[in-house]
Amino acid sequence: MIDIEDILTEKKMDQERDKKNAPVVNEDVLTEKEYEKYLWDCVDMQREYCTEHTIPMFMPSSGRCNICGCDIRDWYQDTLREYYITGCPRCHSTFCD
Ligand SMILES: [Zn+2]
Repeated sequence: MIDIEDILTEKKMDQERDKKNAPVVNEDVLTEKEYEKYLWDCVDMQREYCTEHTIPMFMPSSGRCNICGCDIRDWYQDTLREYYITGCPRCHSTFCD
């Protein structure tokens, strides 16, 4: 006779094992401090983009939306070197005013 408890325990053990065997993705990932620095670099990317195209920079230099507080740097990251940011990606308020 099969004991349901045994099956459940075994299943749980399997899950635990899977968790341990899961690939470590964090090894190459930046530390929190490095990431914060990287986010500021993203603001510079947008600044450079605007300088290059001789257009005003509308993205708040704080990197955050004034309305909803969304971190625009985090949202766009290094695409800030390629795209012109004129509004918030989350609440869609414009930075042009
Ligand atoms: Zn917003």
